[in-house]
Amino acid sequence: GLLPYNDMTFKLIEVGMSFEAICLAFLLAQRFRKNEVEKEFALRSARIDSLTGLNNRRGFEHAAMPVWYQQLRSGHDMSVILLDIDLFKQINDRYGHVQGDEVLKSIAALLQHGARRSDVMARWGGEEFLLLLPDTNEEQAIRHAENLRTLVAQSRVDVGEGEIEFTASFGVCGTVDGQLFNKPLDAEDLERMIDAADKALYTVKNSGRNKVMPATQLLAST
Ligand code: GH3
Ligand code: MG
Ligand code: MG
Repeated sequence: GLLPYNDMTFKLIEVGMSFEAICLAFLLAQRFRKNEVEKEFALRSARIDSLTGLNNRRGFEHAAMPVWYQQLRSGHDMSVILLDIDLFKQINDRYGHVQGDEVLKSIAALLQHGARRSDVMARWGGEEFLLLLPDTNEEQAIRHAENLRTLVAQSRVDVGEGEIEFTASFGVCGTVDGQLFNKPLDAEDLERMIDAADKALYTVKNSGRNKVMPATQLLAST
């Protein structure tokens, strides 16, 4: 009632209402964006192993599927490497769980350091790691695994009064000339490759550990 009602004040009311609408739209957009970021963060956290920062199983599936199907279409070679820390329970028993965690972290860092951008890695289980290597045939994957095996065996984790030494065993399964066990790859074969690498890994555990076993060699000897 203080201001006179004329053209000027009428316009000012309109300006004020528009300003309010803009502020509201801005706040809503901000709230929406915050929700989206929180949702994305929650989804990402569900796919990442918090100890090592690598994919967990769910994260592996999420990241590996597009790579896998892309490779299937291209007909290029592909390999998987499965590795498992040797006698890890003894490491935990001797140095404690916290130091055991440090060993897991150091292996994850080592894997990340040696990886190509297209490789998909995961902490597959407690002390087990999985690598999917696109454009890599079994022979190249064996060399890569051998290299990783040496690096793992050479790495140390400091524990104040000393160092923890550790080794890992490796199972490898990959294609040869784009084929898996002499057959063209099909959509189900990623699981087959992981299973075959697991079986190869199992034979290493029964024959002294700290070695690389290719699945094709295992198949040929059985
Ligand atoms: P092998 O050479 O046959 O693989 O023997 P291993 O002792 O490594 O295998 P086993 O399956 O007997 O033991 C695995 C151990 O890994 C037992 C479990 O407590 C430990 N472990 C699993 N997850 C974690 C983890 O997140 N942190 C720590 N510190 N230990 C873990
Ligand atoms: Mg183990
Ligand atoms: Mg294990």
